[in-house]
Parts: sequence; C-alpha cells; structure tokens
Amino acid sequence: MANVRLENVKKVYEGGVVAVHEMSLEIQDKEFVVLVGPSGCGKSTTLRMIAGLEEISEGTLWIDGVVMNDTPPKDRDIAMVFQNYALYPHMSVYENMAFGLKLRKFPKEEIDRRVREAASILGIEEYLDRKPKALSGGQRQRVAVGRAIVRKPKVFLFDEPLSNLDAKLRVQMRTEISRLHRRLEATMIYVTHDQTEAMTMGQMIVLMKDGYVQQVDSPLTIYNKPKNKFAAGFIGSPSMNFFEGIIEKGRSLVFQEKGGGVRFTIPRTLEPRVRPSLGKDIILGLRPEHLYDPSTAPRTKAGTPWKVQVEVVEPMGNEIYLYFSTGKNKQQYVARIGAQSTPSVGKPFELMFDLSGSHFFDPETERAL
Ligand code: ADP
Repeated sequence: MANVRLENVKKVYEGGVVAVHEMSLEIQDKEFVVLVGPSGCGKSTTLRMIAGLEEISEGTLWIDGVVMNDTPPKDRDIAMVFQNYALYPHMSVYENMAFGLKLRKFPKEEIDRRVREAASILGIEEYLDRKPKALSGGQRQRVAVGRAIVRKPKVFLFDEPLSNLDAKLRVQMRTEISRLHRRLEATMIYVTHDQTEAMTMGQMIVLMKDGYVQQVDSPLTIYNKPKNKFAAGFIGSPSMNFFEGIIEKGRSLVFQEKGGGVRFTIPRTLEPRVRPSLGKDIILGLRPEHLYDPSTAPRTKAGTPWKVQVEVVEPMGNEIYLYFSTGKNKQQYVARIGAQSTPSVGKPFELMFDLSGSHFFDPETERAL
C-alpha cells in the first residue's frame, strides 16, 4: 500500500477560478482520510488531481515517494469510486467487476478468483449475473466498490459515494466501508460534504473551505479543539452556538452578549484565554449539549441559569432540540435538552449554560483564542 503527499498543490481552472490554493498534506499508508467541507470548497478537485483526472496547476503530488504529476491515471495504481456508480449498463455485475482486469490482460482464473472474493466480501455473490438496472442503489454502490477492490490498488479514492442512497442505507454503507478499510488495510481518501460521515469514518479529517485547508486533525480533536469558527460550526450537529459579545471586568471577567442578551462570569480556568480580550469584542461558542434544563439535568452539571425565549421545540424522542433567543437581537440558538423537559413556544424557559465547555473566537480573524 502507499502514502500520498501533496506539496503546495494548486488548481486553477480555465477562466481563472482557483479551486484549490497551495495545499500541503501527508496521508500515511493504510490511513482513512476524509476530505470534508461545503459544496464548492475544492474537495472533488483535490481528489481528481490525486486520481490524475485533473491536471495539477502548481505543486507536487507523490504516491509512495514517486512524483505523479504527469503520470496518466491508469498508471497511478489507484481506484476511484464515484457517486453515480459509473457502471456499464449493458454488462453484468461480474463483467463490470472484471472489466478493468481484462483490460490489463489478467489471466481468466485470476480475474475469476478476484471477482468472487470481492463479491463475497461485499455480499453480492448472488447478483453476479444481473445487470445494474436490476439492482437497488445500495447494491449498485457495492458493485462499484467491488470493481475497485478487484484491482487491489495502492490507494482507494471515494467521491461522495453514499450521496445517492437513502438515509438508512447510508448509515449501513458507512459501517461497511469502514469495515472494508480495516479488512483491506488500504490507504483510502474519501470525499464528502457530510460532517457525520467525516466524524464517523475518518481517522483523519481534512476540513476545507473556499479552496483552503482549515484544519487537519482526528475527528475528536476537531470537535473538541476547533482551530477557528468555521471548523467549530461545521463539525457537530446541531451546530455550535455563537454568541457575539464583549469581555468586561466585574469582580471577575464577564462575558456580555450584544443586544442585552446573556451575561455570564467566565470560569476561572478559562480566564487566561480571554484576559487579552478585555474590553474587546469576542465570540463565545457553546455546543448545544452544554446547555441544560436545570429541572431535569443531573445536579452534577455545573452551570449558570438564564431565562431564554423559546422559539421552536423539536422533540427527537430521546431528547429535545430547543431553539431559543436571548435578547433583543433575536438571534436564534439551539440547546439539546432531556426528553422529559416541557418547554413551550413563546414562553420563557430557564436554561443552564455550562461555560466550562466554552470556546472563544476573535471576531476579526475568527481564530480560536
Ligand atoms: P467540491 O467538491 O468541494 O464541491 P469542487 O472541487 O467540485 O468542489 O469545485 C471547487 C471550485 O472549482 C468550485 O468553485 C467550482 O465551481 C470550481 N470548478 C469545479 N470544476 C470546474 C471546472 N471544470 N471548470 C471551472 N471551475 C470548476
């Protein structure tokens, strides 16, 4: 298998669109890396440059220590799985999976062995004689994955492979692909716009925005220590709440939200991080799970209560998403509270803010403080 390295890789499309700015990244052998970010951030372009389907405008791409910039796709020893499966409609499942090996003049017995092995791994042995149109979306996607497996490539590339599947099947295929990664011990690079896929599948996440890498870290590190406001807001669902305010000096340091919203004492342990911002604007980030209903939350959960205005109540069964506002600015925030709580729309409701889970950001640079 192989490691993949990008050094200052840049993509400028015809017409001058810069899709990827000087991107440097090292992907280790056998690693599962997810490129994630909103639509148009340059994920697919990056993947296609690695595959050789897009020319690299500047910079260098190595696979296993060999410069690949000018190597044709078929000689890069990679296999790509696409969102739309890209199966040949007139060929059977078996023929679709065998096709790439036939082109490479593999002996018939070896092709047969590999196709049957891949079919067994993916649980599609009974469909080998069917045409793709006689398969469900999930089965087609398995065939597309099977076609990649039989090649035994150095690197697997996945471009939003689950986007066309319904929600339940997506969850199932997610775990299947993760299991496949463990079984094949291959280097895999996976593109998605879905932060849940990134969190659950990636050993490492490369978070992108506007053609720039924002953060490269393990899923939990990005979740717990986002480097900037974008990373904090993109990873996690529902998203982190951002309160715009100012740091003031009371008996200790105080966060005062703009528009007469929340006003909280900063916990002592966090003071060193916000002290340089005394008298200045700041953004306080708090994840929805750091807000509680004091009447149902366990006593151990420390926090400061505040009366908020309930805007929307979404019962999820096991918990409630409570959308609320705090002040005149009517900015909407969200809390995840226990299913036993009984908030009503339009009525005030007391919420506990556990500031020990706070993040702080500079409003200008949006960097974490
Ligand atoms: P993502 O995969 O993150 O949705 P893409 O890599 O597809 O993003 O696109 C990144 C940017 O490059 C977008 O602004 C997109 O419009 C632009 N782009 C993609 N393909 C082309 C192309 N063939 N020609 C010109 N611009 C393109």
